[in-house]
Amino acid sequence: MATDQYSLTDPRTRYPSISPPIQQQPEPGIQANMDPVPDLGETSYRGSGRLTGRKALITGGDSGIGGAVAIAFAREGADVAISYLPEEEQDARHIVGLIKEAGRTAVAFPGDLKDKNYCRELVEAAVTGLGGLDIVVSNAGKQVFVEKLEDISDEQFEDTMRTNVFAMFWIIKAAVPHLKPGSTIIATASLEAYHQLPFLLDYATTKGAINNFSKALAQQLAPRGIRVNAVAPGPTWTALQVTQGYPPEKLPEYGKDNPLGRSGQPAELAPAYVFLASGESSFVIGETLNVNGGMPTP
Ligand code: NAD
Ligand code: MG
Repeated sequence: MATDQYSLTDPRTRYPSISPPIQQQPEPGIQANMDPVPDLGETSYRGSGRLTGRKALITGGDSGIGGAVAIAFAREGADVAISYLPEEEQDARHIVGLIKEAGRTAVAFPGDLKDKNYCRELVEAAVTGLGGLDIVVSNAGKQVFVEKLEDISDEQFEDTMRTNVFAMFWIIKAAVPHLKPGSTIIATASLEAYHQLPFLLDYATTKGAINNFSKALAQQLAPRGIRVNAVAPGPTWTALQVTQGYPPEKLPEYGKDNPLGRSGQPAELAPAYVFLASGESSFVIGETLNVNGGMPTP
């Protein structure tokens, strides 16, 4: 058994400072084929009943941060529905297996979030399959680097907007009528909302929008007993980085420029989502929890 998240560990060395070899896959990428394979907490995350009996929908729950959140939620006692693209069936099976191993119900519903009808069907599938819904994690995202504005195709710009912003809106809009007081919504922003890499122009634009959406919606829904917050990850080793999300030649140095000197692993993001999903954060509303290895943010 690896060290769990409650042990006294040196954050510099809890996970190795990796120098990933240059590698590329077509979008959305299969995490199982990455070198090294990201750590989602499979052997380390220890649950302690913090989400007992809760029912969660996580978009992009097949891999990376969403996959780590799915494992953590299940081990904390929640039933979990995940969305993913049909090409990601292999990664999704891995997560579904771990949710079931934790003794919880798993719902897997593949499809394309750029399609608003799928987004609505996804919420219905989660509600039906889990017997209700009280946690929504909007996590799926598209990130493709392009150096120059003139080279960002209209199609890419629109796809990034639809995946990162429109799908979040469609899903949360469809979910809210099902959410009782005590329910929680967590959006996934990014360090890019504050520190914009020039080659992630369209992506950074969406992450600023996600941050603002969550803060405005938080004020709307708090009077109805529903809390909205966001997590803003910094450089985390996931499939996004090997599917044109980051310049391939820079991969060996990926994430080494923060105060901790290393990129994060998805397992290190999951506890932030657990905190915001559970009742222990009852007075935390409209917050963006930065999990980024020490990069200063507003
Ligand atoms: P990931 O590739 O493992 O997860 C992203 C998931 O998004 C994919 O698994 C896929 O299922 C889903 N997705 C993408 N396009 C889709 C579509 N059209 N339809 C349905 N699903 C689609 O990568 P990740 O890094 O874990 O990404 C999760 C979130 O974290 C994203 O919102 C990303 O922007 C955010 N984030 C990541 C980092 C990082 O460094 N990895 C940093 C900041 C923010
Ligand atoms: Mg994936």
